[in-house]
Amino acid sequence: MDVTKFEELQLDDRIIRAITEMGFEEASPIQAQAIPVVLEGRDMIGQAQTGTGKTASFAIPIIQHLQANKETDKRQGIKALILTPTRELAMQISECIDDYSKYTRVRHGVIFGGVNQRPQVDMLRKGIDILVATPGRLLDLINQGHIHLTNIEYFVLDEADRMLDMGFYDDIM
Ligand code: AMP
Repeated sequence: MDVTKFEELQLDDRIIRAITEMGFEEASPIQAQAIPVVLEGRDMIGQAQTGTGKTASFAIPIIQHLQANKETDKRQGIKALILTPTRELAMQISECIDDYSKYTRVRHGVIFGGVNQRPQVDMLRKGIDILVATPGRLLDLINQGHIHLTNIEYFVLDEADRMLDMGFYDDIM
């Protein structure tokens, strides 16, 4: 199979720098297939096992777009929403975004249930571009007026099958 190097994907230098520091040079198969599609702004469904670089396959192109639009798009509010079924996955995705966005001006945050919402609300007030969330806490904070989805441009359903298995159908709808 052909190998795709990250350098070939026309990503921002700041993202390439972070990827290089992590020791990656070649995109994994799911990344090589997904990143160009998302960079074109198209919808996609991806399937790959855990540990194959699935998270970066949507995180990298979203960070790329948001960073590229930073200079011109001055609108406030969350622009990318990533829904995931569990707190553990939410934290893992957030760490992954941390890794790839650390040299950019793209800001992100994570919310999940089972903990005090206060620090999460404070974090949201400071302004973020990407929000990683579990469905229940997201709905709570939307209903309380702390989150507005008016400016969302990117929407990811991570582990969509598992979210449905866990009974999140109504929340997701
Ligand atoms: P996932 O849970 O599918 O997002 O996979 C995450 C794991 O894949 C982490 O251990 C990353 O360090 C690793 N990973 C991500 N991108 C690559 C890559 N291009 N080459 C090798 N490993 C990668």
